[in-house]
Amino acid sequence: MKKVCSFCGRSERDVPLLITGLSGFICSDCAQQACEIVKEALHTEHKDEGLGFKLSELPKPKEIKAYLDQYVIGQDDAKRYLAVSVYNHYKRLAQQATDDGVEIEKSNIIMVGSTGTGKTLLARTIAKLLHVPFTIVDATVFTEAGYVGEDVESILSRLLQVADYNVEAAQRGIVFIDEIDKIARKSDNPSITRDVSGEGVQQGLLKLLEGSMVNVPPKGGRKHPDQDYIHVDTRNILFICGGAFDGIEKKIAQRLNTHVVGYNSVQNRQHIDKGNLMKYILPQDLKSFGLIPEIIGRLPVLTYLNPLDRDALRRILTEPKNSIVKQQVKLFEMDGIKLSFDEDTLEYIVDKAVEYKLGARGLRSIMETIMMDAMFEVPSKKVKTFKVTLDYAKKQLDKANFSELKAS
Ligand code: ADP
Repeated sequence: MKKVCSFCGRSERDVPLLITGLSGFICSDCAQQACEIVKEALHTEHKDEGLGFKLSELPKPKEIKAYLDQYVIGQDDAKRYLAVSVYNHYKRLAQQATDDGVEIEKSNIIMVGSTGTGKTLLARTIAKLLHVPFTIVDATVFTEAGYVGEDVESILSRLLQVADYNVEAAQRGIVFIDEIDKIARKSDNPSITRDVSGEGVQQGLLKLLEGSMVNVPPKGGRKHPDQDYIHVDTRNILFICGGAFDGIEKKIAQRLNTHVVGYNSVQNRQHIDKGNLMKYILPQDLKSFGLIPEIIGRLPVLTYLNPLDRDALRRILTEPKNSIVKQQVKLFEMDGIKLSFDEDTLEYIVDKAVEYKLGARGLRSIMETIMMDAMFEVPSKKVKTFKVTLDYAKKQLDKANFSELKAS
Protein backbone atom coordinates (compact mmCIF):
# COMPACT_ATOMS: atom_id res chain seq x y z
CA MET A 1 0.00 0.00 0.00
CA LYS A 2 1.32 3.44 -0.95
CA LYS A 3 2.06 5.52 2.13
CA VAL A 4 -0.18 8.60 1.70
CA CYS A 5 -2.50 10.35 4.16
CA SER A 6 -6.01 8.98 3.60
CA PHE A 7 -7.43 12.43 4.37
CA CYS A 8 -5.31 14.94 2.40
CA GLY A 9 -3.53 12.56 0.02
CA ARG A 10 -0.05 13.90 0.75
CA SER A 11 2.76 11.39 0.85
CA GLU A 12 4.97 10.58 3.80
CA ARG A 13 7.70 12.94 2.49
CA ASP A 14 5.39 15.97 2.45
CA VAL A 15 4.03 15.75 5.99
CA PRO A 16 5.68 16.15 9.42
CA LEU A 17 4.45 12.73 10.62
CA LEU A 18 2.35 9.95 9.12
CA ILE A 19 0.43 7.68 11.50
CA THR A 20 -0.38 4.17 10.33
CA GLY A 21 -3.83 2.69 10.92
CA LEU A 22 -5.34 -0.73 10.14
CA SER A 23 -6.29 0.10 6.56
CA GLY A 24 -4.99 3.61 6.00
CA PHE A 25 -2.88 6.51 7.19
CA ILE A 26 -3.39 9.94 8.74
CA CYS A 27 -0.86 12.76 8.78
CA SER A 28 -0.21 14.83 11.89
CA ASP A 29 -1.77 17.96 10.29
CA CYS A 30 -5.04 16.15 9.57
CA ALA A 31 -5.01 14.53 13.01
CA GLN A 32 -4.70 17.94 14.62
CA GLN A 33 -7.53 19.32 12.54
CA ALA A 34 -9.67 16.32 13.41
CA CYS A 35 -8.98 16.96 17.08
CA GLU A 36 -10.27 20.55 16.76
CA ILE A 37 -13.41 19.34 14.98
CA VAL A 38 -14.10 16.77 17.68
CA LYS A 39 -13.59 19.30 20.47
CA GLU A 40 -15.95 21.77 18.88
CA ALA A 41 -18.59 19.15 18.18
CA LEU A 42 -18.55 17.86 21.74
CA HIS A 43 -18.67 21.36 23.16
CA THR A 44 -21.71 22.23 21.05
CA GLU A 45 -23.39 19.03 22.11
CA HIS A 46 -22.81 20.00 25.73
CA LYS A 47 -24.32 23.42 25.06
CA ASP A 48 -27.41 21.84 23.50
CA GLU A 49 -27.88 19.87 26.63
CA GLY A 50 -27.92 23.30 28.25
CA LEU A 51 -26.86 22.81 31.80
CA GLY A 52 -24.98 19.64 32.39
CA PHE A 53 -27.63 18.51 34.87
CA LYS A 54 -31.23 17.34 34.77
CA LEU A 55 -33.76 19.00 37.03
CA SER A 56 -35.24 15.60 37.88
CA GLU A 57 -31.87 14.49 39.25
CA LEU A 58 -31.47 17.46 41.55
CA PRO A 59 -32.32 17.39 45.24
CA LYS A 60 -35.80 18.77 45.94
CA PRO A 61 -36.22 21.49 48.61
CA LYS A 62 -37.19 18.89 51.22
CA GLU A 63 -34.11 16.85 50.43
CA ILE A 64 -31.90 19.93 50.58
CA LYS A 65 -33.32 20.73 54.00
CA ALA A 66 -32.87 17.14 55.18
CA TYR A 67 -29.23 17.35 54.13
CA LEU A 68 -28.76 20.63 56.00
CA ASP A 69 -30.40 19.05 59.07
CA GLN A 70 -27.52 16.58 59.29
CA TYR A 71 -25.01 19.37 59.84
CA VAL A 72 -26.87 22.40 61.17
CA ILE A 73 -28.95 22.39 64.33
CA GLY A 74 -32.24 24.31 64.35
CA GLN A 75 -32.63 27.39 62.08
CA ASP A 76 -35.59 25.77 60.32
CA ASP A 77 -36.84 28.96 58.71
CA ALA A 78 -33.49 29.85 57.21
CA LYS A 79 -33.07 26.29 55.96
CA ARG A 80 -36.43 26.33 54.22
CA TYR A 81 -35.76 29.68 52.57
CA LEU A 82 -32.35 28.57 51.41
CA ALA A 83 -33.59 25.22 50.12
CA VAL A 84 -36.37 26.84 48.10
CA SER A 85 -34.16 29.60 46.73
CA VAL A 86 -31.41 27.25 45.62
CA TYR A 87 -33.92 24.89 44.03
CA ASN A 88 -35.57 27.81 42.22
CA HIS A 89 -32.18 28.90 41.03
CA TYR A 90 -31.80 25.56 39.27
CA LYS A 91 -35.32 25.81 37.90
CA ARG A 92 -34.53 29.22 36.47
CA LEU A 93 -31.50 27.83 34.74
CA ALA A 94 -33.47 24.87 33.38
CA GLN A 95 -36.25 27.15 32.18
CA GLN A 96 -33.82 29.34 30.30
CA ALA A 97 -32.63 26.30 28.42
CA THR A 98 -36.18 25.70 27.15
CA ASP A 99 -36.92 29.40 26.62
CA ASP A 100 -40.70 29.54 26.34
CA GLY A 101 -40.99 33.23 27.06
CA VAL A 102 -41.88 33.08 30.76
CA GLU A 103 -38.95 34.53 32.61
CA ILE A 104 -38.48 33.49 36.21
CA GLU A 105 -36.83 36.28 38.16
CA LYS A 106 -33.85 35.65 40.35
CA SER A 107 -34.38 35.71 44.11
CA ASN A 108 -31.19 36.67 45.90
CA ILE A 109 -31.27 35.97 49.62
CA ILE A 110 -30.28 37.87 52.75
CA MET A 111 -29.82 36.06 56.07
CA VAL A 112 -29.77 38.08 59.27
CA GLY A 113 -28.59 36.62 62.57
CA SER A 114 -26.04 37.12 65.35
CA THR A 115 -22.52 35.97 64.77
CA GLY A 116 -21.91 32.27 65.32
CA THR A 117 -25.48 31.13 64.71
CA GLY A 118 -24.70 29.15 61.58
CA LYS A 119 -24.95 31.47 58.56
CA THR A 120 -21.61 30.51 57.07
CA LEU A 121 -22.12 26.91 58.10
CA LEU A 122 -25.42 26.84 56.17
CA ALA A 123 -23.76 28.33 53.11
CA ARG A 124 -20.83 25.91 53.27
CA THR A 125 -23.05 22.91 53.78
CA ILE A 126 -25.29 23.78 50.87
CA ALA A 127 -22.18 24.24 48.73
CA LYS A 128 -21.21 20.62 49.34
CA LEU A 129 -24.47 19.53 47.76
CA LEU A 130 -24.37 21.75 44.71
CA HIS A 131 -23.75 21.17 41.07
CA VAL A 132 -22.73 24.78 40.37
CA PRO A 133 -19.63 26.80 41.25
CA PHE A 134 -19.86 28.29 44.73
CA THR A 135 -17.71 30.79 46.59
CA ILE A 136 -17.75 32.63 49.92
CA VAL A 137 -16.47 36.21 50.10
CA ASP A 138 -16.24 38.67 52.96
CA ALA A 139 -17.76 42.11 52.35
CA THR A 140 -15.34 43.77 54.77
CA VAL A 141 -12.46 43.57 52.27
CA PHE A 142 -14.24 45.72 49.71
CA THR A 143 -13.78 49.42 49.19
CA GLU A 144 -15.06 51.68 46.46
CA ALA A 145 -13.24 51.20 43.16
CA GLY A 146 -10.00 53.15 43.09
CA TYR A 147 -9.40 53.06 46.85
CA VAL A 148 -7.12 50.76 48.85
CA GLY A 149 -8.80 47.38 49.22
CA GLU A 150 -10.54 45.04 46.84
CA ASP A 151 -13.06 46.08 44.20
CA VAL A 152 -16.36 44.24 44.32
CA GLU A 153 -15.53 42.74 40.92
CA SER A 154 -13.01 40.51 42.67
CA ILE A 155 -16.02 38.43 43.79
CA LEU A 156 -16.31 37.30 40.20
CA SER A 157 -12.59 36.54 39.93
CA ARG A 158 -13.03 34.05 42.75
CA LEU A 159 -16.09 32.53 41.18
CA LEU A 160 -14.18 32.14 37.92
CA GLN A 161 -11.35 30.51 39.82
CA VAL A 162 -13.58 27.85 41.37
CA ALA A 163 -15.20 27.31 37.97
CA ASP A 164 -11.75 26.66 36.47
CA TYR A 165 -12.17 29.73 34.30
CA ASN A 166 -15.21 28.22 32.59
CA VAL A 167 -17.15 31.47 32.16
CA GLU A 168 -20.44 29.77 31.34
CA ALA A 169 -20.30 27.69 34.52
CA ALA A 170 -19.35 30.73 36.62
CA GLN A 171 -22.31 32.63 35.21
CA ARG A 172 -24.64 30.05 36.79
CA GLY A 173 -22.85 29.99 40.12
CA ILE A 174 -23.77 30.94 43.67
CA VAL A 175 -21.92 33.54 45.76
CA PHE A 176 -22.19 33.88 49.55
CA ILE A 177 -21.32 37.39 50.71
CA ASP A 178 -20.59 37.37 54.42
CA GLU A 179 -20.72 40.41 56.75
CA ILE A 180 -22.91 42.43 54.40
CA ASP A 181 -23.88 44.59 57.41
CA LYS A 182 -20.32 45.94 57.54
CA ILE A 183 -20.90 47.93 54.36
CA ALA A 184 -23.92 49.72 55.80
CA ARG A 185 -23.94 53.48 55.40
CA LYS A 186 -22.15 55.00 58.36
CA SER A 187 -24.29 58.10 58.67
CA ASP A 188 -27.79 59.05 57.62
CA ASN A 189 -26.43 61.91 55.62
CA PRO A 190 -24.36 60.41 52.83
CA SER A 191 -22.94 63.71 51.60
CA ILE A 192 -20.86 64.83 54.59
CA THR A 193 -17.73 62.83 53.80
CA ARG A 194 -16.78 60.24 51.27
CA ASP A 195 -18.10 56.90 52.54
CA VAL A 196 -15.52 54.74 50.81
CA SER A 197 -16.32 51.45 52.51
CA GLY A 198 -20.06 51.98 52.93
CA GLU A 199 -22.37 53.40 50.35
CA GLY A 200 -19.68 53.37 47.65
CA VAL A 201 -19.32 49.61 48.01
CA GLN A 202 -23.07 49.14 48.06
CA GLN A 203 -23.30 50.97 44.74
CA GLY A 204 -20.61 48.70 43.31
CA LEU A 205 -22.37 45.63 44.63
CA LEU A 206 -25.66 46.79 43.19
CA LYS A 207 -24.22 46.49 39.72
CA LEU A 208 -23.47 42.82 40.33
CA LEU A 209 -26.82 42.06 41.99
CA GLU A 210 -28.82 43.76 39.26
CA GLY A 211 -27.35 41.55 36.61
CA SER A 212 -24.97 43.16 34.19
CA MET A 213 -21.91 42.48 32.10
CA VAL A 214 -18.90 42.95 34.33
CA ASN A 215 -15.29 43.11 33.21
CA VAL A 216 -13.14 40.86 35.34
CA PRO A 217 -9.34 40.97 35.14
CA PRO A 218 -7.90 37.67 33.86
CA LYS A 219 -6.05 35.17 36.06
CA GLY A 220 -3.37 36.93 38.11
CA GLY A 221 -4.54 40.44 37.21
CA ARG A 222 -3.87 42.47 34.09
CA LYS A 223 -0.19 42.55 33.33
CA HIS A 224 -0.48 45.24 30.65
CA PRO A 225 -3.27 47.64 29.64
CA ASP A 226 -4.25 45.99 26.38
CA GLN A 227 -4.71 42.58 27.95
CA ASP A 228 -8.37 41.58 27.60
CA TYR A 229 -10.80 41.50 30.49
CA ILE A 230 -13.05 38.48 30.91
CA HIS A 231 -16.71 39.47 30.42
CA VAL A 232 -18.97 37.91 33.02
CA ASP A 233 -22.75 38.23 32.91
CA THR A 234 -24.11 38.26 36.48
CA ARG A 235 -27.76 37.87 35.51
CA ASN A 236 -27.91 34.22 36.52
CA ILE A 237 -25.57 34.25 39.49
CA LEU A 238 -27.43 33.68 42.76
CA PHE A 239 -26.25 35.90 45.60
CA ILE A 240 -26.77 34.87 49.22
CA CYS A 241 -25.84 37.56 51.76
CA GLY A 242 -25.34 37.14 55.48
CA GLY A 243 -24.79 39.59 58.30
CA ALA A 244 -25.10 39.96 62.08
CA PHE A 245 -26.64 43.46 61.89
CA ASP A 246 -25.72 44.11 65.51
CA GLY A 247 -28.26 46.39 67.15
CA ILE A 248 -30.94 45.92 64.51
CA GLU A 249 -33.27 44.57 67.21
CA LYS A 250 -33.55 48.12 68.50
CA LYS A 251 -34.79 49.30 65.13
CA ILE A 252 -37.24 46.40 64.98
CA ALA A 253 -38.48 47.19 68.49
CA GLN A 254 -38.92 50.86 67.58
CA ARG A 255 -40.91 49.95 64.52
CA LEU A 256 -43.06 47.44 66.41
CA ASN A 257 -43.78 50.02 69.12
CA THR A 258 -44.65 52.84 66.81
CA HIS A 259 -46.87 50.65 64.70
CA VAL A 260 -48.61 48.96 67.54
CA VAL A 261 -51.46 51.32 68.29
CA GLY A 262 -55.19 50.78 68.67
CA TYR A 263 -57.21 48.02 70.26
CA ASN A 264 -56.20 45.21 67.88
CA SER A 265 -52.57 46.04 68.12
CA VAL A 266 -52.55 45.90 71.89
CA GLN A 267 -53.67 42.29 71.54
CA ASN A 268 -51.00 41.66 68.93
CA ARG A 269 -48.35 43.08 71.16
CA GLN A 270 -48.89 40.31 73.65
CA HIS A 271 -47.80 37.79 71.04
CA ILE A 272 -44.51 39.49 70.39
CA ASP A 273 -41.61 37.33 71.46
CA LYS A 274 -39.39 39.96 73.04
CA GLY A 275 -36.51 37.52 73.46
CA ASN A 276 -36.18 37.06 69.70
CA LEU A 277 -37.16 40.22 67.89
CA MET A 278 -35.13 39.13 64.89
CA LYS A 279 -37.96 37.02 63.59
CA TYR A 280 -40.05 40.14 62.97
CA ILE A 281 -37.43 41.63 60.67
CA LEU A 282 -38.68 43.46 57.59
CA PRO A 283 -36.83 45.08 54.69
CA GLN A 284 -37.41 48.55 56.18
CA ASP A 285 -35.31 47.59 59.21
CA LEU A 286 -32.38 46.90 56.90
CA LYS A 287 -32.89 50.37 55.49
CA SER A 288 -32.86 51.95 58.96
CA PHE A 289 -29.64 50.04 59.56
CA GLY A 290 -27.96 51.64 56.56
CA LEU A 291 -28.44 49.46 53.51
CA ILE A 292 -29.54 51.47 50.49
CA PRO A 293 -33.06 50.70 49.22
CA GLU A 294 -31.76 49.59 45.81
CA ILE A 295 -29.68 46.84 47.44
CA ILE A 296 -32.59 45.74 49.62
CA GLY A 297 -34.78 45.59 46.54
CA ARG A 298 -32.29 43.22 44.92
CA LEU A 299 -32.34 40.87 47.92
CA PRO A 300 -36.03 39.97 47.94
CA VAL A 301 -35.77 36.86 50.14
CA LEU A 302 -35.18 37.97 53.73
CA THR A 303 -34.72 35.37 56.45
CA TYR A 304 -33.31 35.26 59.98
CA LEU A 305 -31.38 32.93 62.25
CA ASN A 306 -32.35 32.33 65.86
CA PRO A 307 -29.94 32.97 68.69
CA LEU A 308 -28.61 29.66 69.99
CA ASP A 309 -30.01 28.78 73.40
CA ARG A 310 -28.53 26.30 75.86
CA ASP A 311 -30.48 23.42 74.40
CA ALA A 312 -29.23 24.20 70.88
CA LEU A 313 -25.63 24.42 72.10
CA ARG A 314 -25.95 21.04 73.81
CA ARG A 315 -27.21 19.49 70.57
CA ILE A 316 -24.46 21.17 68.51
CA LEU A 317 -21.88 19.48 70.71
CA THR A 318 -22.92 15.94 69.74
CA GLU A 319 -25.62 15.79 67.05
CA PRO A 320 -24.23 17.15 63.76
CA LYS A 321 -22.63 14.59 61.46
CA ASN A 322 -19.22 16.16 62.13
CA SER A 323 -19.91 17.42 65.66
CA ILE A 324 -17.07 18.56 67.90
CA VAL A 325 -17.39 15.42 70.06
CA LYS A 326 -17.43 13.09 67.03
CA GLN A 327 -14.29 14.78 65.72
CA GLN A 328 -12.46 14.28 69.02
CA VAL A 329 -13.50 10.62 69.16
CA LYS A 330 -12.22 10.16 65.62
CA LEU A 331 -8.87 11.77 66.44
CA PHE A 332 -8.32 9.36 69.33
CA GLU A 333 -9.63 6.41 67.35
CA MET A 334 -6.80 6.94 64.88
CA ASP A 335 -4.41 6.14 67.74
CA GLY A 336 -6.46 3.08 68.62
CA ILE A 337 -7.94 4.75 71.73
CA LYS A 338 -11.61 4.75 72.61
CA LEU A 339 -12.50 8.23 73.85
CA SER A 340 -15.66 8.89 75.84
CA PHE A 341 -17.22 11.84 77.66
CA ASP A 342 -19.32 11.74 80.80
CA GLU A 343 -22.71 13.36 80.36
CA ASP A 344 -21.79 15.81 83.16
CA THR A 345 -18.72 16.87 81.19
CA LEU A 346 -20.78 17.77 78.14
CA GLU A 347 -23.25 19.74 80.26
CA TYR A 348 -20.32 21.52 81.88
CA ILE A 349 -18.87 22.52 78.50
CA VAL A 350 -22.23 23.95 77.46
CA ASP A 351 -22.57 25.80 80.79
CA LYS A 352 -19.19 27.43 80.28
CA ALA A 353 -20.03 28.47 76.71
CA VAL A 354 -23.25 30.07 78.00
CA GLU A 355 -21.53 31.66 81.01
CA TYR A 356 -18.83 33.32 78.91
CA LYS A 357 -21.32 34.15 76.15
CA LEU A 358 -19.16 32.39 73.59
CA GLY A 359 -21.89 30.77 71.54
CA ALA A 360 -21.20 27.79 69.29
CA ARG A 361 -17.68 28.92 68.44
CA GLY A 362 -16.83 28.80 72.16
CA LEU A 363 -17.75 25.13 72.38
CA ARG A 364 -14.81 24.31 70.19
CA SER A 365 -12.27 26.41 72.11
CA ILE A 366 -13.47 25.04 75.45
CA MET A 367 -13.21 21.50 74.11
CA GLU A 368 -9.70 22.13 72.74
CA THR A 369 -8.57 23.57 76.08
CA ILE A 370 -9.90 20.58 77.99
CA MET A 371 -8.40 18.07 75.60
CA MET A 372 -5.01 19.65 74.95
CA ASP A 373 -3.02 17.77 77.62
CA ALA A 374 -4.71 14.49 76.79
CA MET A 375 -4.02 14.95 73.09
CA PHE A 376 -0.38 15.59 73.94
CA GLU A 377 0.16 12.68 76.31
CA VAL A 378 -2.29 9.90 75.64
CA PRO A 379 -0.97 8.80 72.19
CA SER A 380 2.37 7.89 73.82
CA LYS A 381 0.74 5.93 76.63
CA LYS A 382 -0.23 2.31 76.35
CA VAL A 383 -3.94 2.84 76.99
CA LYS A 384 -6.91 1.63 75.04
CA THR A 385 -9.53 3.95 76.52
CA PHE A 386 -9.74 7.50 77.81
CA LYS A 387 -12.71 8.92 79.69
CA VAL A 388 -13.18 12.65 80.14
CA THR A 389 -14.79 13.03 83.54
CA LEU A 390 -16.28 16.21 84.96
CA ASP A 391 -13.40 16.52 87.45
CA TYR A 392 -10.83 16.20 84.73
CA ALA A 393 -12.58 18.80 82.53
CA LYS A 394 -12.86 21.29 85.42
CA LYS A 395 -9.23 20.80 86.34
CA GLN A 396 -8.06 21.40 82.77
CA LEU A 397 -10.11 24.56 82.31
CA ASP A 398 -9.00 25.99 85.66
CA LYS A 399 -5.41 25.19 84.88
CA ALA A 400 -5.64 27.03 81.56
CA ASN A 401 -7.18 30.07 83.25
CA PHE A 402 -9.86 29.85 80.63
CA SER A 403 -12.08 32.50 82.17
CA GLU A 404 -9.24 35.02 82.17
CA LEU A 405 -8.17 34.13 78.68
CA LYS A 406 -11.66 34.81 77.47
CA ALA A 407 -12.01 38.02 79.39
CA SER A 408 -8.92 39.49 77.78
P1 ADP B 1 -21.87 32.88 61.46
O1 ADP B 1 -23.35 32.95 61.70
O2 ADP B 1 -21.13 33.95 62.20
O3 ADP B 1 -21.51 32.77 60.01
P2 ADP B 1 -20.79 30.23 61.64
O4 ADP B 1 -21.70 29.56 60.68
O5 ADP B 1 -19.41 30.53 61.12
O6 ADP B 1 -21.43 31.55 62.20
O7 ADP B 1 -20.69 29.37 62.96
C1 ADP B 1 -19.49 29.18 63.68
C2 ADP B 1 -19.35 27.72 64.12
O8 ADP B 1 -20.30 27.45 65.13
C3 ADP B 1 -19.63 26.75 63.01
O9 ADP B 1 -18.48 26.37 62.33
C4 ADP B 1 -20.25 25.57 63.74
O10 ADP B 1 -19.25 24.72 64.22
C5 ADP B 1 -20.93 26.18 64.91
N1 ADP B 1 -22.37 26.42 64.70
C6 ADP B 1 -22.99 27.63 64.67
N2 ADP B 1 -24.30 27.51 64.50
C7 ADP B 1 -24.56 26.19 64.39
C8 ADP B 1 -25.75 25.42 64.19
N3 ADP B 1 -26.96 26.00 64.08
N4 ADP B 1 -25.62 24.08 64.12
C9 ADP B 1 -24.41 23.49 64.24
N5 ADP B 1 -23.25 24.15 64.45
C10 ADP B 1 -23.31 25.48 64.53
